[in-house]
Amino acid sequence: MPELPEVEVVRRGLERWVAGRTVAAVEVRHPRAVRRHLEGADHFTAALTGRTLTAAYRRGKYLWLPIAEADDTPAGQALVAHLGMSGQLLVEKRSQPDETHLRARFTFTDGGRELRFVDQRTFGGLAVEDADGGSIPARLAHIAIDPLDAGFDADRFSAALRRRRTEVKRALLDQTLIGGVGNIYADEALWRARLHGSRPTERLSRAQVADLLEGVRDVLTESLAQGGTSFDSLYVDVNGQSGYFSRHLAVYGQADRPCPRCGTPIVRESFMNRSSYSCPRCQPRPRARRS
Ligand SMILES: [Zn+2]
Repeated sequence: MPELPEVEVVRRGLERWVAGRTVAAVEVRHPRAVRRHLEGADHFTAALTGRTLTAAYRRGKYLWLPIAEADDTPAGQALVAHLGMSGQLLVEKRSQPDETHLRARFTFTDGGRELRFVDQRTFGGLAVEDADGGSIPARLAHIAIDPLDAGFDADRFSAALRRRRTEVKRALLDQTLIGGVGNIYADEALWRARLHGSRPTERLSRAQVADLLEGVRDVLTESLAQGGTSFDSLYVDVNGQSGYFSRHLAVYGQADRPCPRCGTPIVRESFMNRSSYSCPRCQPRPRARRS
């Protein structure tokens, strides 16, 4: 599943290759791709044709592109995209053969490269939603700003995290508290901060929260730096688990391999129908609470 850095790479690609272009035609090739556009595929197509996509923004794992009329006045709407488990937004030459799982195609009035939405498992989707005055679409507004966003407030995050009475890994995955951190980056950030994911948030010190936030930022930034070049090939592979970052994972998916810090074998534990990976020596489990 694409995590925040991968989606940010896609946003940068859209900003570079799509923003400012006027849609000539939209072809919806699979109705599931626009199922969140409740008025249907024809309405979706009509809402975009002849209009300009003015910029590319991201909130968590959602992308949105504000729409303007032909005379550049804002339409009060935005094209919203979510990549789901396997979605890709590709910018390609028109001569490039269609992908097997091509779900939607956008052509532009400048006759240049197409924008294609490709999604093998069709959990992702596109919709045109209201976004008055170029502001964030209402459906995305509840998602917390993430640490890659310039508006992220570290002090507020620290205070909110310590107020939650939950396990620290659950808090990291809570999109209302911190946006865009998925299972992989949560495990990597916890390892960097030497915290076990089941540590209770209300008992973390300010310094531990600061270490954790630094871990989140570092792991996201490093991943972004590696993924940041992949859009040069006009192709972002978001299939599978964090493709280009996987060579650099310290704990995630590394069960029985030595911890890069202390050499102790990494352990896998089940967590919310998924897995958590940690070093039992660097990240000891919290002791049971005294009653
Ligand atoms: Zn270790």
